[in-house]
Amino acid sequence: MDITATCDPAKTVVVATGNAHKLTEIRAILGAAMPQMTFVALGELGDFPDPVEDGDTFAANALIKARAALECTGLAMAVADDSGLVVDALGGEPGVFSARWAGEHGNDDANNDKLERLMADVPDERRTARFHSTVALAYADGSYLLGDGDCEGRIGHERRGDHGFGYDPLFLPDDTPGKTMAELLPDEKNAISHRFHALSDLAAQLG
Ligand code: IMP
Repeated sequence: MDITATCDPAKTVVVATGNAHKLTEIRAILGAAMPQMTFVALGELGDFPDPVEDGDTFAANALIKARAALECTGLAMAVADDSGLVVDALGGEPGVFSARWAGEHGNDDANNDKLERLMADVPDERRTARFHSTVALAYADGSYLLGDGDCEGRIGHERRGDHGFGYDPLFLPDDTPGKTMAELLPDEKNAISHRFHALSDLAAQLG
């Protein structure tokens, strides 16, 4: 399939995510900075295999995803993000291994069990952590821009809340005292999230 026959490469940014919520956020924030561009999810263009995310930084993995989207579509611009939890008392773990920290990719329960277990004896003053996101905008000529964002907080002692995903039930953002990320409504989370800050950082470089 020749994707460039249906999408104008000069006006299309392919977004390497299968997450509808991320696509909405990316359209809202980067779309305002690049009003001439249309943002299209990779999955709308075809059924492509996921690349192996074997980088050892968030930036490396975001670039791997963005460049894979360029390669399989033949388009000229792609956006991808990579994110995770960074816990100070664990030397920065789980970091880039956040999704598969307990072994099975995307098993949030097992990941939270592991986090609770490793943090059980850590005193309150050493429970600082942050969610980090790096967003990459990659171009077919090999150049790229990166946006970085953090959401600072601490690791709670027990899980609370039903919203969100991943480590949200154990993460207490500094911006919302007394509430875990999983107790925030989607709009409340979006206003303080690492991804919001990373996309805003990237948008500022485009503006
Ligand atoms: P991804 O790069 O967005 O796919 O995130 C990788 C992993 O990091 C997820 O599977 C989660 O375990 C964790 N993570 C990233 N962002 C969040 C968040 O906003 N809340 C909770 N966990 C997150």
